[in-house]
Amino acid sequence: MSDLHPVGRFPEEWTAALAALGEPKYRATQIFRWIHRRGELEAAKMTDLPLALRERLAQDGLTSPFEVVEVHRAKDGTRKLVLGMPSGGRIECVLIPMTPLSGDADLAAASDDDDEPGLVAPSERTRVTLCVSTQFGCAMGCVFCASGRAGLGRGLGADEIVSQVIIARRYLEPNEDLTNLVFMGMGEPLHHYDETARALRLLTHPEGTGMSPRRITVSTVGLVPGLKKLGADFAGKVGLAVSLHAPDDVTRDRIVPMNKRYPLNELIAALKSYPLPRRRRITIEYTLIDGVNDTDAHADRLVRVLSGLPVKVNLIPMNPVEGSGFQASPPERVDAFQARVAGYGYSCFVRARRGDEVSAACGQLALAPGLIELGRSRAPL
Ligand code: SAH
Repeated sequence: MSDLHPVGRFPEEWTAALAALGEPKYRATQIFRWIHRRGELEAAKMTDLPLALRERLAQDGLTSPFEVVEVHRAKDGTRKLVLGMPSGGRIECVLIPMTPLSGDADLAAASDDDDEPGLVAPSERTRVTLCVSTQFGCAMGCVFCASGRAGLGRGLGADEIVSQVIIARRYLEPNEDLTNLVFMGMGEPLHHYDETARALRLLTHPEGTGMSPRRITVSTVGLVPGLKKLGADFAGKVGLAVSLHAPDDVTRDRIVPMNKRYPLNELIAALKSYPLPRRRRITIEYTLIDGVNDTDAHADRLVRVLSGLPVKVNLIPMNPVEGSGFQASPPERVDAFQARVAGYGYSCFVRARRGDEVSAACGQLALAPGLIELGRSRAPL
């Protein structure tokens, strides 16, 4: 039929694939809706399709790319789903309820600048952000991040990125709405641009999940060519978060190795030319690491580096990662850093630690030992 995984196809790609089977055109939208709107990944359950077609689709690989292996629930309501791939590897995605007092409204980054009427959930409902992975492992090597320390297994297909959303929706409570997506799980989305972009288009397709691009935030270590493509392809509508973590090249080279390839002046220039819509801001992520990037001098320098950019700053006290040799800054240092940056008029918040008792906090999504998989097995289509 097509060598694209069925979950990663657009309606027009379904049309082409189905024409070869002599199926009418309208089936393309019908199947696309089953998958992306109704969240059904099993051809056998698409009950209004003819039985022979269902069987053919199942044969051609229309089935879930993952099975849910484990669900870990933290006391704060955060749920980490561990998803198993047929070849044995595991990836993770995290559902994060936005409670008014959790202080992590920043994770709903896309929504707090320009609220769209009608999309704001009534107060008795809870808005939930889903954090998805784009790669199995990560090649960026940030020294304080579990995924980075593990290295790259492989990039995920758009179908695998989208399936995390489809599967995670099943784990929402009746009073919860999935309102925001952050591409902040394992992996570097812009190191894997084509599948990330396809996933963004699938998730925002009006016949499917129909998410607003403003409610999706892509987080990057700062790969300049990828930033340019993302800005151009989505006209700046997709929210952007940048993992800066240091205000000078010496410090950043030490903790974010990619800085040697795209140093700060190039990264900041790329952010200045990102086609950000009016009233939208770029989220600057800054993990505070004890004695490395957390002094008043770093804060002052950060403010200078960011001057002229529409940003909000998210401070993340480093979450523990075994063997990294780095630690979180003490709480009083975090407060002092926050106050200093905010004192210059920047909007600057400390991201609440969410889900760390189930290792679901930033930088704790790691590869389970012995589960590195390299290829991807899939039934030929
Ligand atoms: N590769 C992307 C997205 C994945 S990480 C990126 O670099 O942005 C999501 C965020 O968590 C990044 O800002 C990352 O630097 C941060 N992070 C990683 N490890 C962390 C840790 N141990 N403690 C706190 N934040 C961490």
